[in-house]
Amino acid sequence: MTTSTSDTSKRVLLAAPRGYCAGVDRAVVAVEKALEHYGAPVYVRKEIVHNKYVVETLAARGAIFVNETDEVPEGARVVFSAHGVSPAVHAAAEARSLQTIDATCPLVTKVHKEAVRFASEDYDILLIGHEGHEEVEGTYGEAPEHIQVVGSPDAVADLEVRDPDRLIWISQTTLSVDETMETVRRLRERFPNLQDPPSDDICYATQNRQVAVKKLAPECDVVITVGSANSSNSVRLVEVALDAGARSSYRVDNAAEIDPSWFDGASTVGVTSGASVPEILVRDVLELLAQHGFGDVQEVRTATEDLMFSLPRELRADLKASGSLPQAPRRDGRRSLDVQPA
Ligand code: SF4
Repeated sequence: MTTSTSDTSKRVLLAAPRGYCAGVDRAVVAVEKALEHYGAPVYVRKEIVHNKYVVETLAARGAIFVNETDEVPEGARVVFSAHGVSPAVHAAAEARSLQTIDATCPLVTKVHKEAVRFASEDYDILLIGHEGHEEVEGTYGEAPEHIQVVGSPDAVADLEVRDPDRLIWISQTTLSVDETMETVRRLRERFPNLQDPPSDDICYATQNRQVAVKKLAPECDVVITVGSANSSNSVRLVEVALDAGARSSYRVDNAAEIDPSWFDGASTVGVTSGASVPEILVRDVLELLAQHGFGDVQEVRTATEDLMFSLPRELRADLKASGSLPQAPRRDGRRSLDVQPA
């Protein structure tokens, strides 16, 4: 991809994969389809995905974002976000007769199921993740009496467990792979019989975006990650870029937040975006870079992704009954909300 304004000594390395993952696209499409099918308003508990643009765009179309189910009128329809919810939230929604659409990413649901299973087998579960993050709250809520949250490698020293021989770790899906492995290393130092989960909990999208940014970062004077401040995987990309050798690394919600002085003396700028970021925001950043002489854009691809998840069960059933279930959603590669806000 090359834009018209270019300086031969300046280039952009554009990470691929970047942006939307399958779980985010599914959650956003779920809200879009719910608005189309049932009409506004549709309530959404928490931000459907951690991206300001996505939330503002859906709000402009009639979604009402709330913090808790008690803010939703009795009997109304509410969508649960991609980050997942605890059983207590399902129970609170049921108590208010809410009609729920659960847009929890299937890869987060997988971690919930692991927590339930290991708790039923009476393990102590060490959940590596960020305290207070919605995903961690949801997973923790599956078995609070069995789970401890481990926020960083340094937190390992303070842990107390019932039986060091009946101990397993699981994790949030959007962590830094390297930092998580360091936490596991320290856990195993303290608890040599610690067991591993059956498969990776850090999801394919998080891992792929970190691998891509690691590849380009050593060649970059500056790396710009497009993503919101509360997006865990976006914030991790900023850190991974620095650790991998970028001279500087910034996160922006959109092109307007870029300070052109970041490019002073730079010849190579890396660009990536978090898993909740529509491509339109990256295109805006590339346009701005072109205006500053960085018109030569070279893609650095480390993986190809084609995973898609079907819509939440409750929504599929209603769309199917009305004959409006999409047969082959977005075969053209277009992602949800990849358009200007309405
Ligand atoms: S980042 Fe991973 S776990 Fe989170 S929504 Fe995307 S695919 Fe699912």
